[in-house]
Amino acid sequence: MIHHHPSAALLAEHASGRLTDGAGLVLACHIEGCLSCRLDLSALESAGGHFLEQMEPAPLAQGALDAALAAIAGIDESRSVSAVRPAIPRYLERFSIPPLLARQKFGGRRRVTPNVWFAPVETDSQSLTYLVHGQPGTVLPQHTHRGRELTHVLHGSFGDIGGRFAKGDFEEADGTLVHAPTVVAGSDCLCLISSDAPMLLNTRSARTIQALFGRIY
Ligand SMILES: [Zn+2]
Repeated sequence: MIHHHPSAALLAEHASGRLTDGAGLVLACHIEGCLSCRLDLSALESAGGHFLEQMEPAPLAQGALDAALAAIAGIDESRSVSAVRPAIPRYLERFSIPPLLARQKFGGRRRVTPNVWFAPVETDSQSLTYLVHGQPGTVLPQHTHRGRELTHVLHGSFGDIGGRFAKGDFEEADGTLVHAPTVVAGSDCLCLISSDAPMLLNTRSARTIQALFGRIY
């Protein structure tokens, strides 16, 4: 059962298309498996549609329709998403990955300690989006954020200031939260994360590792 959901404000940002691709991906992966959030999002979208219906129609710029039709005609179908769908990397084969996430392109896995690895997910350049995996009982380095950090749990669970986050749960963090998430004993944990900027680590050793690995997280 899912216990932690995105805030109403974040769902509203998603509904209006204002999130970065990475943040939108993390949220969409949660929503895909959460009936409660699907219903909330549907209500928000209906409200948005109603608002649009109330607006006065505005005239299109001259030639706008022709330009849109030309753009549609110019789409190269051989380059559609399904045609270039990348294979899921071997390190993810044993996990149940949401279809939306499975369609993304993943970078190579980087093991930063014997118990933790990171792997980048290619999205827009406005956000850092990656997978992080920890062995049972692993404590991640204490850190805070220079913006928003969104986390969706794909496998296992971790404990944090806000409680226990298990498969399907969603966590929203920002610069007001200083935390050191800990993988719950008994199972490894895999999460999808998107953040506005690299995390601000509180220990020198962790910062050194972060610098060595090119600040993907
Ligand atoms: Zn939810």
